[in-house]
Amino acid sequence: AARSSLPAFNGVGSTSDGHRVPLLANVGSGRDAEAAAAAGAEGVGLLRTEFCFLGRDSEPSLEEQVAAYGAVFDAFPGRKVVVRTLDAGADKPLPFLTDKSEPNPALGVRGFRTDRSAPGVLARQLEAIADAAGSHDCDVWVMAPMISTADEASDFAVMCAAAGLATPGVMIEVPAAAIKAEAVLSKVKFASLGTNDLTQYTMAADRQLGTLASLNDPWQPAVLQLIAMTVQGGALAGAADSVPRNVGVCGEAASDPALAVVLTGLGVNTLSMTPRALSTVGAVLSSVTLAEAQALAGTALVARTAAEARTQVRSQLPILE
Ligand code: PEP
Ligand code: MG
Repeated sequence: AARSSLPAFNGVGSTSDGHRVPLLANVGSGRDAEAAAAAGAEGVGLLRTEFCFLGRDSEPSLEEQVAAYGAVFDAFPGRKVVVRTLDAGADKPLPFLTDKSEPNPALGVRGFRTDRSAPGVLARQLEAIADAAGSHDCDVWVMAPMISTADEASDFAVMCAAAGLATPGVMIEVPAAAIKAEAVLSKVKFASLGTNDLTQYTMAADRQLGTLASLNDPWQPAVLQLIAMTVQGGALAGAADSVPRNVGVCGEAASDPALAVVLTGLGVNTLSMTPRALSTVGAVLSSVTLAEAQALAGTALVARTAAEARTQVRSQLPILE
């Protein structure tokens, strides 16, 4: 009931005591990006580039890709835009990249793994992103989906450097990468937690199966613990070479206002979400101090169940009553 009375998002995400948490948008096209900018997003935290590839039976040309990415950059002049490289496979099959006979597509050749089965597609995409970035003044970051090992992170960073892209990062959405976050983050400049897949793989519960929704819940204690481990790994990697690592969240978890507070308390630096969640998340975040968010993160981390974590945290956020 209180939701309608929440103040509009003013475009600067922070706690009530001024701890900044940029609130970014997840977008999948130039049109999405315009809507996100209108909703007050501070930038783009996840550009799902599949939009440029879906429904086609061959790879889009360099020119088509440059135009598609440029349309997103146009909506956010001077702002940060995090471009995710192609995440084909599993729930996002592409006819020219996905082997339909895989027995278990979620555990198959998807995301960054397609660089081995279809060499060249990723390098050409990076070239197109660099091209589009070159004619815009956005702060363009590039990240790879489905990274499982530090070696994969390192390979991706090398490919980005070859394309002239200066800010390589990885999605943390495989439990192995969260557990080894320090090693993974030592190879790249930032990470973004994909909590949709991280939850699916941690709980071994298909994200597309509604019947498993109670397992497929980012409030699950094991998922929160992996998020905390990722933040800690990022801090250690940053301390080792004195280059702080941004650790953001771009899964649906960031659009749950109570969970957004917990994520902030865990030390997540940026939250990227569907644009319609920005105002509520912004309002709830600005209703707590950083210390309160940290206390709520502590509460969530020690809860025995997802339901207990959610209930206890929400009960301590009067703005959500
Ligand atoms: C995620 O896995 O949380 C994510 C943001 O990526 P996608 O939903 O596109 O797999
Ligand atoms: Mg994902």
